[in-house]
Amino acid sequence: MTDLSDYAHYFTPNYGLPPIIMTHGRGCVLFDQSEQRYLDLAGGIAVSALGHCHPQLVDALTTQANKIWHLSNTLANEPAIELAEALVQATFADRVFFCNSGAEANEAAIKAARRAAFNTKGAEAYEILCFENAFHGRTIATVTAGGQPKYREGFGPMPVGFRHLPFNDCRALEAAVSEKTCAVMVEPIQGEGGVRPICPTFFEKIRAACDRVGAALIVDEVQTGVGRTGHLFAYEGYGVIPDILASAKSLGCGFPIGAMLCTDAIAAHLVPGTHGSTYGGNPLGTAVALSALKIINQPTFLQTVRERSEQLMRGLETLNARHGLFKLIRGRGLLIGAVLNDAYAGRAPELVTLGHQAQLLTLVASPNVQRFAPPLIISEEEITEALAKLDQVYQAFKDTSPH
Ligand code: PLP
Repeated sequence: MTDLSDYAHYFTPNYGLPPIIMTHGRGCVLFDQSEQRYLDLAGGIAVSALGHCHPQLVDALTTQANKIWHLSNTLANEPAIELAEALVQATFADRVFFCNSGAEANEAAIKAARRAAFNTKGAEAYEILCFENAFHGRTIATVTAGGQPKYREGFGPMPVGFRHLPFNDCRALEAAVSEKTCAVMVEPIQGEGGVRPICPTFFEKIRAACDRVGAALIVDEVQTGVGRTGHLFAYEGYGVIPDILASAKSLGCGFPIGAMLCTDAIAAHLVPGTHGSTYGGNPLGTAVALSALKIINQPTFLQTVRERSEQLMRGLETLNARHGLFKLIRGRGLLIGAVLNDAYAGRAPELVTLGHQAQLLTLVASPNVQRFAPPLIISEEEITEALAKLDQVYQAFKDTSPH
């Protein structure tokens, strides 16, 4: 049997050493090598929206696996066309470009915005305004767009034309937007940056500022999209319509797929030869995503996400009234962050480790925030079970804290 010493021996060390090897899962539950059962409130970092081994997704994948796996983009396939149609019908978008990950969806978004601005406004309109604490991926362009300098450290030189503004600061935005602005790129909730929701007025101001100077609004919904916030996409909850949207994570529910959605006005600039991806739109990924979208994009499904969100939020507030660890519990739908009090600053990773001991999987979002991103199919009983485990975790955390 493989063990973690093999992992430590063979993997590049960039992820650190994971604590557990998981072997299988069902619904919201994972099992390790010794059949220990873990309740999953991490969802593969907001990916496994339909849990593990959802029967309809297994069926979509295995049926497609027996038909055709790969064709390249010199030929078309049916599931990709059907998924593109379904995404266009469900959103603001007129066109879709498929890729394999969130970073690639954002790369496509950046390239589409740059080419559109180049053609319509001229070569000087290349500046992309982004935000402090944002996270857009790990490629060179997307770490540059991201607002966490530690992810860029030692990887320079970085591409030019990205400028970071404070998040939710209307005045800084107004001062920064100019004829040079190609796009504004923003997450509706900064996920990795601490589960920080965008202020509705700020979102509206970004839209108005983009309209004023003919810049594109790029919304990064890699973490917030496909049902996570109780809407199909989070922008719907704010009534702000983007020009370009990046999706991944829950789109494939664990099968790697990303998508860049955009208007006709943007798509018109991606003429043949401007962009591409060998695996983008491959039949396996698109068959799974199509099946997932049919399940998630239903009013009753999304309503249940909002109900589970209420239950989890309220349960966390009740626990916090007892334990007093957090200064704030925030988020939307089933993307929730519990922000530690200053006295416990930097200690969110300990909560995750204590969770493992209670057979509960959670996440951090920055060192001060415990993050919950469970499968969207989590039941009322499973949330009740998770809250009971969190009660133990928070008690154990306090027991190890100096008084
Ligand atoms: N954008 C956001 C908002 C994300 O949360 C992430 C990943 O956490 C990414 C982009 C990068 O996605 P991927 O890791 O699939 O490249």
